[in-house]
Amino acid sequence: MSHDDSERTPTGPSEKVRSAAALRYLAAREARRTAAPERVLPAPPPDADTLWRGLLRDGQMRLIVARTTEACRAIAERLGTGPAASRVLAELFCGAQLMRATIHPDESLQLAGHQQGGIGSFVVDIFEDGTGRATLRHPHPVGGAIAGGSLQVGRVRRGVGQYRSSVAMAPDDAVPALLMRYLLDSEQLPSLIDIEVQLDDAGLPSLVVGSLVQLMPEGSREDLAQLVSNIERAGTAAAAMTAEDPDAIAWAEKLLAGFHWDQVARQAVAFRCRCSAERVISVLASLQPDELRELIEGLEQLESTCDFCQTTWTTPVHQLLPLLEASS
Ligand SMILES: [Zn+2]
Repeated sequence: MSHDDSERTPTGPSEKVRSAAALRYLAAREARRTAAPERVLPAPPPDADTLWRGLLRDGQMRLIVARTTEACRAIAERLGTGPAASRVLAELFCGAQLMRATIHPDESLQLAGHQQGGIGSFVVDIFEDGTGRATLRHPHPVGGAIAGGSLQVGRVRRGVGQYRSSVAMAPDDAVPALLMRYLLDSEQLPSLIDIEVQLDDAGLPSLVVGSLVQLMPEGSREDLAQLVSNIERAGTAAAAMTAEDPDAIAWAEKLLAGFHWDQVARQAVAFRCRCSAERVISVLASLQPDELRELIEGLEQLESTCDFCQTTWTTPVHQLLPLLEASS
């Protein structure tokens, strides 16, 4: 040790106190970092929809796991989709749930597909509370469900604003690959998405499980390399969900082996539409007066069916007359 170094070594009483406090702080931080993992209990049974998040203690990565079987089944039943459309819609709904769990809790997320062939135009809405809905143009596509075109991703935060960005869809694009491409291109977040969909004999979803691992800005190349080597050994979340381990925690431990992580939150997942008699009237109010007049000509009531939940709303025409009077 040189003469200069020894002069800089703290020797006064206050420095000694400070370094003791610093050591205690470092020891406490290390104890916290390596403490037993936290879990969000109780885990819902394997036949119930759920979404949970895990976070590495140093913030390098997050893991989202979603089981959306019941919601996807309800959507497929309402829309009367054939097997190909049921499968792709389940992948889109589960993927949208995973993506929404990565954004601000007060934001809703929308996937809007614009394409001529396949299932045609489609919309998936996931609301702030984890409920969601979906619709599509062609429930029985000829050929592949994804035919090309573009996917627009919208994020809306009520009273604050919205953000929209698009990614091109290739014919026969796989939904997880499409969503990963969007997250990397538009949000600069390298993500790994896996979605497994099983259909029953009627072509309806009988299992829909997805996972998303996202490398955060704090994450390093080494973290990613460790994750990639873990993935091969971990298998899939869907296969690991059992009555004893409905959250597939054993799978998550293999996936995140070598990292300290906690299960930090759980969120509701359900199919729910937001249509109502009031919303039908507000949509009709947005029509041009001539269009509305033509629509209600000779009718006493107007029937309109929600594209998402297929509920038919009956609006008495006398409730619409003030809309025409206001414009004349
Ligand atoms: Zn509806």
